[in-house]
Amino acid sequence: MSQLLGPTLMDFLITIVRLSLWLTILVVIFVPLERLFAAHPQKVLRKGIATDLGYFLLSSLLPALLLSVPVGMLAWAVHGLIPSGFLSAAAGLPLWARALAGLVAGEVGYYWGHRLSHEIPFLWRFHSIHHSAEELDFLVNTRAHPIDMVFGRFCGLIPIYVLGLGGPTEASGTLVPVVVTLIGTVWGFFIHANLRWRFGPLEWVISTPAFHHWHHTRTGPINHNYASTLPWLDRLFGTHHLPDALPESYGIKAKLPDTLADQLLYPLLPPVTAPSRPEPAVAAGEMPV
Ligand SMILES: [Zn+2]
Ligand SMILES: [Zn+2]
Repeated sequence: MSQLLGPTLMDFLITIVRLSLWLTILVVIFVPLERLFAAHPQKVLRKGIATDLGYFLLSSLLPALLLSVPVGMLAWAVHGLIPSGFLSAAAGLPLWARALAGLVAGEVGYYWGHRLSHEIPFLWRFHSIHHSAEELDFLVNTRAHPIDMVFGRFCGLIPIYVLGLGGPTEASGTLVPVVVTLIGTVWGFFIHANLRWRFGPLEWVISTPAFHHWHHTRTGPINHNYASTLPWLDRLFGTHHLPDALPESYGIKAKLPDTLADQLLYPLLPPVTAPSRPEPAVAAGEMPV
């Protein structure tokens, strides 16, 4: 069969089956939970769901492709800059220690990449698409322009490679980056979900839907809660914001196009009106960049 179809078409079909399986698993887990423990009443087939399904396909297919060149270049640069003794000491740590360190290091990289996506207007044009969702559910996790998604992943991978916790060039070195990316992706679906669950004191350690929903609030500043999994990084860097209540509405004031094709083009075209939501770079009491 594979000989008849040729490797490219066969690979594509396998990818489609794999993605359909992933989507089915996500739907089976999250749709009932979002019915039972909804943070806000809303339909399963909410506004923008078709666009987000398009993003789900794109974000599963594109980043690996787009990341291979910059990550390869990074690996080459890092091997020249970091003392080989340091790299081999890090590589010699037990797997659990490398994975834990990789999770923290990757989150620090992601935090700053995400924060820059809010504070640099050029990056915000791409990232504003993620914030344009007016109703949140697990699938909003995938609503990201490919450039935005690749930038975020790249920022998360840099510290892992710099610290010698994984390397894109050896097969064994890809384990930590893959595990960290997988944990971040799965948790990303959870923190976008329309769930009212709170974790009590654990909210100091691990992010929740409430933590990330405040990053999507329409009524207040969104220069808070940049971390994906580790909210204490926001406490450390002065951007933590987690009231007891959930936000009442989500989205941005700027009107972005509705269709997938138009949204993909939007950041690349000259601005007609500037997107309205890179809020002031430094709010009162926050750490300057
Ligand atoms: Zn954001
Ligand atoms: Zn989000």
